[in-house]
Amino acid sequence: MRIGIGYDLHRLVEGRPLILGGVRIPFEKGLDGHSDADALAHAVIDALLGAAGLGNIGRMFPDNDPQFKDADSLGLLEQAARAVGEKGYSVVNVDTNVIAQAPKLNSYLDQMRDNLAARLRVSPWQVSIKAKTNESVGPEGRGEAISVQAVALLDTAR
Ligand code: MG
Repeated sequence: MRIGIGYDLHRLVEGRPLILGGVRIPFEKGLDGHSDADALAHAVIDALLGAAGLGNIGRMFPDNDPQFKDADSLGLLEQAARAVGEKGYSVVNVDTNVIAQAPKLNSYLDQMRDNLAARLRVSPWQVSIKAKTNESVGPEGRGEAISVQAVALLDTAR
C-alpha cells in the first residue's frame, strides 16, 4: 500500500466559470488558472502522483505549456491515473475536502464523485468528496479562494 496527499487552492475571480470535479456550478465567480482551474481534480492528481512517486501535477502538466491552456482537468486526471496504473498501482480509495464558503456544494457532490470515479476507473464508493465552509475566516472563508485537500491510497496488487 502507498498513500499520497494532495492540496490545491485557486483564487475566486469574476469572469470565470466555476468548475469542480468536472461539474460547472452556477456562481457569480469562478476559479482563476491556466487550465480550467478545477482545484478538486488537481488535488486528486497530486495525491495519486505522490502516492505513486511520480512527482506532481506541475511536472506532468507544466502550466506554462500552451497545450494545457484551459485544459479539461478531468482529462489530466485520466492521464495521471493511467500513469499510476502503468507503474503497477491500482486505486483503493480517494478522500477529499473541498473548502468553500460559497456556493453551497452539497447538491453537486454526487456528480463530482461520479465524474472522478469514471476517470479513475473505480467505483463511486471508492471516491469521497466532502464540502465544508471555513467558518468565514481565512481566504476560503472570505470567498477569496477555494481550496481542496485530498488523499489517495494505492495498492500494488493487481
Ligand atoms: Mg491547480
